Amino acid sequence: MLRTVRVALPIPVVKEYTYELPGALEASVGIGSLVLVPVRARVYTAIVTELDAQVRPEVNLRRVRAVVSDEPVVNAELLELTRWIARYYLCAWGEALQAALPAGMQTKEKVVLYLDSESPAAWENISPRLYAYMAKHLKATPSRLKRAGLRISDEEFTKAEKQGALQRKVELEGPKVRAKMDRFISLAPAFRTVTALRDLLPQLHGTKQKAVIQELIRSVESGDVEPLLADVRQNCGAGLQTVKTIEQRGIISIVEKRDFRVPEWMRPADISASKAPAFHKSQAKAVEVLHEAIETQEYRTYVLHGVTGSGKTEVYLAALEKTFALKQTAIVLVPEIALTPQTVQRFRSRFGDTVAVLHSRMAQGERYDVWEQIRADRYRVVIGPRSAILAPIQNLGLIIVDEEHDGSYKQMDPAPRYHARDVAVVRARMRQAVCILGSATPSLESLANVGQGKYTLLTMPDRVPTQGRSAAALPSIKIIDLCEERDKNNLHGALSTPLIQAIGSRLERKEQVILLQNRRGFAPIFECQNCGFVPQCIACSVSMTYHQVKQQLKCHYCGFVRNPPVSCPNCGASAFAPLGSGTQRVFQDLSELFRGARILRMDRDSTQTKNAHHEILNAFADYQADILIGTQMVAKGLDFGRVTLVGVINCDVGLRLPDFRSEERTFQLLMQVAGRAGRADLPGAVLLQTRRPKHPVFSSLKKHDFDGYAQQLMKEREALGYPPFGRIMGVQVRGAPKRRVERLAEKWRELLLEQLPSTVSVLGPEQPYIERVEHQYRYFLMIKAPKTYRNLQEDVRMVIKMAPSSMPNLHASINVDALEQV
Ligand code: ADP
Ligand code: ZN
Repeated sequence: MLRTVRVALPIPVVKEYTYELPGALEASVGIGSLVLVPVRARVYTAIVTELDAQVRPEVNLRRVRAVVSDEPVVNAELLELTRWIARYYLCAWGEALQAALPAGMQTKEKVVLYLDSESPAAWENISPRLYAYMAKHLKATPSRLKRAGLRISDEEFTKAEKQGALQRKVELEGPKVRAKMDRFISLAPAFRTVTALRDLLPQLHGTKQKAVIQELIRSVESGDVEPLLADVRQNCGAGLQTVKTIEQRGIISIVEKRDFRVPEWMRPADISASKAPAFHKSQAKAVEVLHEAIETQEYRTYVLHGVTGSGKTEVYLAALEKTFALKQTAIVLVPEIALTPQTVQRFRSRFGDTVAVLHSRMAQGERYDVWEQIRADRYRVVIGPRSAILAPIQNLGLIIVDEEHDGSYKQMDPAPRYHARDVAVVRARMRQAVCILGSATPSLESLANVGQGKYTLLTMPDRVPTQGRSAAALPSIKIIDLCEERDKNNLHGALSTPLIQAIGSRLERKEQVILLQNRRGFAPIFECQNCGFVPQCIACSVSMTYHQVKQQLKCHYCGFVRNPPVSCPNCGASAFAPLGSGTQRVFQDLSELFRGARILRMDRDSTQTKNAHHEILNAFADYQADILIGTQMVAKGLDFGRVTLVGVINCDVGLRLPDFRSEERTFQLLMQVAGRAGRADLPGAVLLQTRRPKHPVFSSLKKHDFDGYAQQLMKEREALGYPPFGRIMGVQVRGAPKRRVERLAEKWRELLLEQLPSTVSVLGPEQPYIERVEHQYRYFLMIKAPKTYRNLQEDVRMVIKMAPSSMPNLHASINVDALEQV
């Protein structure tokens, strides 16, 4: 009988392909195996999703080329989950599966150029430098040539091929990550003593062999009867052959063992035990409810709304404890930039080395090994950013999403463009597990789900009580009006006198300061430097963006265009200018104002290297610095008792982004960063600099009134049909030349309008602020649909099938539940 397999390919094709499974491979292929299959002229790594799929007899099947891993790389649970992701986020199943595998497991094809002939005729009119390189190396990949500084055009390659100078071959490149095997010298039982080894010495001839035995004697003396082969060789300078000769005499054997690469901070050494504190009232209540839910082992999602410093992490730890007691496992999601050693340490100090961490800053090999050990049941809990929701942990009983409102849970590019919080809820439901969505500022989406009874709300309205006080007070929040300070001549660069004075007093008292310079998004928003006014679109209530080329203001939602006002409609001044000043400048201002102060800067530039982020935070935690200034990286999850002042250089940047979520995000960010102040015994203060002190965001912030503000935002969203009252799907078309991209975008619009009911609006096509990236033009469409419209995915899928998709240099991609326009 003909054996077949159906596979999911990691390319944007919606259907799965069927292949013949050659008899020789049968034994090693099962559902979830990784195999190599041909598609047209290429070879891909694919995952087997079905065995013995039905095929019509007349179909001529191609064959599976090879098996990449003989053990299944995904289990049934992840197959089901990734299939849900593919259906909901409108991508290929293979693309979703790919996201569930650690990077580097795929086998890729690469082009290799070989020197074919050295005859002068073959090399006529071809770069002599290319010839020199190829004559020396005989073969090369195009990227290697590029790195060698040989910039050769495609035409020249083609010519070289035609003239017979070079030959181009497509070859397979093995997986980038592999199990790391170490070789050890294992002493035979009879030779595990120093005496037995010494007795050998006179019988050996070569001095090299003697040197090896001497080295082994030293090793046994220090208690190691199985030293690393490489160490022994290095210490005595012996070649592999010498060691092998000794092996042949039966004295030793060379054994291979897997070395699991584990990052430094996941090793057991630095675990210090901690115990659960006595819970305060609302904490105890939350823990009680969660314990009960976990015990029932039924699906349920909870929104844990606790103010900053209310002790949410302790609630998570208690929930984890219960889960482990029931012999179940857990996943904890943390926003990428909040995944600091401090965060990890809090979990490790309670649960030791049963805590696995997956992190993008880990080396590829480390991630691969940790991933494999998670699959092998080595850990009880996995902590990581969004991709950890696809971790292959078995027997899952609890999923925690910390800072659930955080935008980094949504993947933008490439597909699958999933939202890890929503996938967490789905995975919990599939597993009959409990899901906790924690935040000091829950997303409107989650609050709406609470309102509809889908999620259950747990609140912790007070901070943890500290010595002498019933509850650490929330920090006092003060607004600084930048316009007023400017009029009083109180501005020093980006810093106002009140902020400078506040910083000064903290430095005197040996307390610490965090400054936030929010530079999120570089939209060319023009604001009045006098009063902070930014022109808004009347229809969409978003800021208009400035298009330099046409010198126009444009709404990116509806396309409304107008000329920029010469004088400000609000105050009459003519002082429009772009927003923001960078962290570097503020750093400089500070160094001049506070000579001798120790200042750390944390932004994308200062955290380029692998551990920079960790080092900066560790230094700040150890009080090696007085001031930490940074982008939103400094806002999340930091718990430093000495920080008593938080300053925000300019709150307006986030408020003016051309996005209907900009206010919600700004509120969340400011509340988050404010929460860094006064977390322990020392009271905290927050100073917010703005040109628009009257903005409603500030009055709510001052009162720490999240609920009131959220309600207000809800009303606005409802009126305009934005999420959570409507659904948003983005379509991006990119490629070149511009005219064709534009035409395809128009085609999409037509098809969408044709296929979707009239309750759905299609906005765009619009161009982003940056018209062209890497020679590609981009156009966006936004589909805005009522929540009640259930067939959105299926109908858009129809359009995907109809829209011309496989044109050279043109790509369309869909972003379901897009968080932002790009
Ligand atoms: P959140 O995550 O809500 O901002 P954390 O869990 O970080 O709050 O708690 C803030 C601080 O209070 C931490 O240092 C934590 O160890 C401590 N803490 C939490 N709960 C208690 C408690 N019940 N008693 C004493 N200290 C607590
Ligand atoms: Zn508009």
